[in-house]
Amino acid sequence: MIIVLKPGTSREQVEHFSADLEKRNGVKVNAWYGEHSTVLGLLGDTAGVDIEAIQANELVESVKRVQEPYKKSNRKFHPDDTVIDLGHGSAIGGGRLAIIAGPCSVESEDQIADIAREVKGAGAAFLRGGAFKPRTSPYAFQGLRAEGLELLRHARAKTGLPIVTEIMSPAHLILFEDVDIIQVGARNMQNFELLKELGKCDKPILLKRGLANTIEELLMSAEYIMASGNDRVILCERGIRTFETMTRNTLDISAVPILKKLSHLPVVVDPSHASGHSWLVEPLAMAAVAAGADGLIIEVHNDPPHALSDGAQSVTPDEFRRIASHVEEVAGVFGKTLSRRDDQE
Ligand code: PEP
Ligand code: MN
Repeated sequence: MIIVLKPGTSREQVEHFSADLEKRNGVKVNAWYGEHSTVLGLLGDTAGVDIEAIQANELVESVKRVQEPYKKSNRKFHPDDTVIDLGHGSAIGGGRLAIIAGPCSVESEDQIADIAREVKGAGAAFLRGGAFKPRTSPYAFQGLRAEGLELLRHARAKTGLPIVTEIMSPAHLILFEDVDIIQVGARNMQNFELLKELGKCDKPILLKRGLANTIEELLMSAEYIMASGNDRVILCERGIRTFETMTRNTLDISAVPILKKLSHLPVVVDPSHASGHSWLVEPLAMAAVAAGADGLIIEVHNDPPHALSDGAQSVTPDEFRRIASHVEEVAGVFGKTLSRRDDQE
């Protein structure tokens, strides 16, 4: 971290301020005295340094971070890719392409079981399905809640597919004990109390980027989970809010190579929530794979017009089969194979 002091700061003030910074932050401070102003360089771990408190000091002209504020998710300190391996072929990261597929919401025992069977047959390695749904309207379907989790467990028992489902409150953690991957939705990316609680659990967390959050904020949210003790985080780009109205969100495709460069955590793309239209899912999925995504999370419904949520962006099982085979071809160009569930239970 570099601090530029205002012209006219006396040597005594510099020494006093430097000593205070060292004491408060456990860093080493070097000072360069120039003709007009003095520059301080903070060496050591500056992740916990409160930049705003420094900016508020009357001696300070400007402050700049030269080190990223995230450590545990930072590729600099962990060059190798993190692989989330749930066994039997279901792995995310490490040179394979993992597909998570299933309905937006779990609606009934038959619905989730049928879709699970279909997506597994087409190449999905994980089953998604929302039981607790974050809906814009309180009058919209809110999910089957605990019953939805139970139906997901049934579908897993039938297909072997590990289940991925969203949590909205730390109070529900007790119900998620048997879930394989816990999803944090876009709306909760900065629910810091939830992130801290998930940091204490032993399950992988699929962390979605918030609607209006930067890439660095996504990494800082991953850092919350990791700093609390859970290193198994999967990052998910699901589109951000822009002025564009043709799509539900704007898929930030550049986030994929940027996240892969900055972090060792696996990166998954959600072309369904990014686009809002089922016909757009395939091209966005292929673009995501070409950009280096480790996985995709795709909404699939057996009867999209009657889906209880997100029908317009849900693809049918037939469409999903085609998408899976096309993304597999794209992955092949980059030497990646599909992460496929094997049935040797
Ligand atoms: C979902 O996956 O169904 C969902 C609500 O996604 P997001 O949080 O990205 O909107
Ligand atoms: Mn959805």
